Formats: sequence, C-alpha cells, structure tokens
Amino acid sequence: MQNNHAGWNFDNSYSRLPGIFYKNQLPTPVREPKLIIYNVSLAATLGLDANALKSKDGAAVMAGNQIPEGAEPLAQAYAGHQFGHFTMLGDGRAVLLGEQLTPQGERVDIQYKGSGRTPYSRGGDGRAGIGPMLREYIISEAMHGLGIPTTRSLAVVETGEEIIRETMLPGAVLTRVAASHLRVGTFQYAANWGKEEDLRALADYAVERHYPEVKASDNRYLSLLKELINRQAGLIAKWLHVGFIHGVMNTDNMTISGETIDYGPCAFIDTYDPATVFSSIDRDGRYAFGNQPYIGGWNLTRFAESILPLLHDDEDEAVKLAEGALSEYSDVFQAHWLAGMRAKLGMMNEEAEDKTLIADLLNMMQKHRADYTNTFRALTFDQLEEIDLFKTEEFTQWHEKWQARLGRQEGAKDAAHELMRKSNPAVIPRNHRVEEALEAAVEKGDYSVMEKLLKVLSDPYAHSEEQSEFCTPPAPSKLPYRTYCGT
Ligand code: AMP
Ligand code: MG
Repeated sequence: MQNNHAGWNFDNSYSRLPGIFYKNQLPTPVREPKLIIYNVSLAATLGLDANALKSKDGAAVMAGNQIPEGAEPLAQAYAGHQFGHFTMLGDGRAVLLGEQLTPQGERVDIQYKGSGRTPYSRGGDGRAGIGPMLREYIISEAMHGLGIPTTRSLAVVETGEEIIRETMLPGAVLTRVAASHLRVGTFQYAANWGKEEDLRALADYAVERHYPEVKASDNRYLSLLKELINRQAGLIAKWLHVGFIHGVMNTDNMTISGETIDYGPCAFIDTYDPATVFSSIDRDGRYAFGNQPYIGGWNLTRFAESILPLLHDDEDEAVKLAEGALSEYSDVFQAHWLAGMRAKLGMMNEEAEDKTLIADLLNMMQKHRADYTNTFRALTFDQLEEIDLFKTEEFTQWHEKWQARLGRQEGAKDAAHELMRKSNPAVIPRNHRVEEALEAAVEKGDYSVMEKLLKVLSDPYAHSEEQSEFCTPPAPSKLPYRTYCGT
C-alpha cells in the first residue's frame, strides 16, 4: 500500500457485504503509465487534488500501480442475461478501488476498467484498448452534459503495453466513477448462488445506498422494486429523448442506482428510425433504439424474480406482488417519455391529443429520414427552411396544429421557447465526430480534437456559436455505421 494524499477519503462499505459478493483483487501493475486525459472538474467534485493527480504519482494511481491509502481493491461478483442467455460473469477486467466520500457527503465508487485479470476473467486478458476507453470517456461525459444519469469518467491512462485484439493495440485503464456498481445481475447472482440471507443483505445494502426512503415502508423490498421500475423507466425515457442507443442492455449492464453504465457499442442516432441498430453483434435488433423500453421491462422482470423470496414468505403472494408492480412499468415509462417529449415541443401543460401530435411528428421524421436532433433544434429556433421534411404539405399541416396547441396554453411564448431550448440539445456525440476525435488521439496522439469535442458536449443546451459546426449530420454513406463491443 502506498500513501497518497491527493484527497482520497475512502470508506468501503461493499467490502463489508458477505464474502460471496467479491474477491479481494489488486490491479495488475502496468509497464509505463501515462495520463492522457483527466477530468479536472469531476476531480474537484470528488474532493481530489487535481495537481497531485496530474503528477507522476497520480498517473501511477490511475494505472493501478500505486494504491492510495484507504482503498481496498476488489473484483465484484455478478451474473447476467446476455442477449437473453443467463451466465455467471463478474468484474473480469475491472477492480473496485473503493468508495470515495466526497466533500458534499456523497459516496461514489472509484473503479478501474482494464486493470488486469481477476478470478472472474474467464478467458479474457483483463485489459482494455485505448480506443474503447476514450470512447467511454467521451460518451459518458456527453451523457452527463445532457443531464442523463450516468457513470462518469475521471481519467484514462495509457499502460505502455500492447494488447492483442484483431491487431495489437495500445492498452489503457479508465477510472470510472459511479453511484455504485450494483447491477440487476448482482441480484441474479445472489438469487442463484447465494443463501437467502445473502440476497437480503444485498437488498438492504441497495436500499441503504440508493433508496433510503423506502426503509419506512411496510414492504421495503416491494418498494425497492417499484422505485427501481420508476428510475429505470425514467432513464430509458431520457435515452429516447436524445436519441441514445445503449446497444448492450444485458441485465449485468443495468444498474440499481438508475445510472447508465457500460458504454460499449452505444451510439446516437442521426436520422430517426426506431429500428436503428449499430452494434455488430446485435443481429436480431434486440437492443434496437425503439426496443429499449421493452427490454427495460424484461430486465426489471429478471430483477423482480431475483428478489421474490424477499417480497413475501408465500411464493404465490410474492409473485402476485411482483406482477402488480411490473404491470405499472409500461404506464410509468409512458408518463416519463411523454413528459420529456412535451418539453421538447414546448408544451407546458397537458392535452389529451398531445400523444397523437408527437407520434405524427415522429412518423413523418421516420418517413422522410429526418435528423432527430436537428429537427427538434430547428423547431426550437423556428428555422423552418432548415429541414427537408419541413417543405412537405403534411408537415405544414402538422405545424399549424402544433402552433394552435401552443397557442392554447397559458404562459408567454418565451417560456415555451426556453423550455424547448433546454430540452433539445444543440450537439450530441455524433458518430463521425467521435470517430474523428478517437482517430486523432489514437493514431496521431493528438488530443486536441477530443478536447474540443468534450468542451462542446459539456453544455449541449448552450446553442452557442462554437457548437454550430458540430451540428452537421454525417455525409450520406452506403454502409451503415457499425459499433463493436469495446473489449
Ligand atoms: P461487457 O460487455 O463490458 O459488459 O462485459 C461482459 C463481461 O465480460 C464482464 O463480466 C466483463 O468483466 C467481461 N470482460 C469483458 N472484456 C474482458 C476482458 N478483456 N478480460 C476479461 N473479462 C472481460
Ligand atoms: Mg458489462
């Protein structure tokens, strides 16, 4: 253990859970750690000293070569349904350093990704490539900028070692910050391989950490289920509002905190089409853009199954309680989704016909292959010459109805415009821009492209002049954009 006063303030509650939930595991030191990107503002929020972390010692810590005082590194156990198939998984290339208590009194996980083999590595090398780690850094920070609950990225360190994939690639370690790394898959693991007391300890831990308000309820585990349903429904609705496709919504990649996690083949849509799939391995479109709400419900059902023994002593009663809670999911999701879509269209109150009006717009966007982000941006700024769809007769009719709808609501036109401004981003991490930034960084060691992209993505609702060049959709391409699982 190394003493390292950079503001670390650990208290590791996860390591106080029953032993089946983890294995103590040090990261495997790397040859030549080099800090290549570092999140100064996040460090400050965490109470970390930015300068200390930028030093040589800091790079050593971010690579796992030095362990700060108070950390208790471990690999977490979990299982999961991957594309519908149940498997034992666990942190195969990640190590939880510990939980940092921030100056604001929050508790967050600090985790290395790409830090070497663990008892859960199965056949893998425990390592990560620089491209996928920088990609996670960009997209997770973009999600944060968009106001979507997400794990954050503190730093990426090059390891000075090569890893073997299709070709040799530079290795990297990402330091990730999360409300916790508890997953639906952690509960599946407990239900399958633990005793009931292990499952209960995990559920109590999740309640304490993420849903303390349910402790007062008659059946705290049923309340936990209902709260998780609400949080995940809200999260997935937010994804849809900005055009985000997670790409690999396996149950091990769904958090209990309600944060987006595990950025692998994720990407944002340009043209609007609910059937859009980017991931090369998602051949059946299980995780297609428009299928995400359904999969959210599927995953939550797996969660409910896992905690059945806690819901009621009588199994039939437990099933009834779970089904009752799960039957609300669809309506809860719809309510979140509709609220966000109304905001995107400047609707400050509710009218019965809103849903139809929104659906009509989306259908037209799909038919005319309109750019999702730019359509809403153009509507926000009343730039009716911007989009081809806007030149059609059916759009003109829709626009009249929409204007009439807005005319019926109380409140100034300015307020509706303000609402639209802050609900419709100017910029999203468009695929071609992300690729361009990664190419400059990985191929040429030029991080300026990525830094500039990160800057505009940090405040996507600014609608500033410097953002305008990032609003352009990619040039039409014959080949669809493809993403790969970032291993
Ligand atoms: P992911 O696709 O990142 O959600 O990972 C799925 C599972 O594979 C998790 O248990 C990971 O820890 C594991 N995994 C992914 N890449 C590697 C690797 N290079 N070495 C060992 N395990 C890995
Ligand atoms: Mg995962």
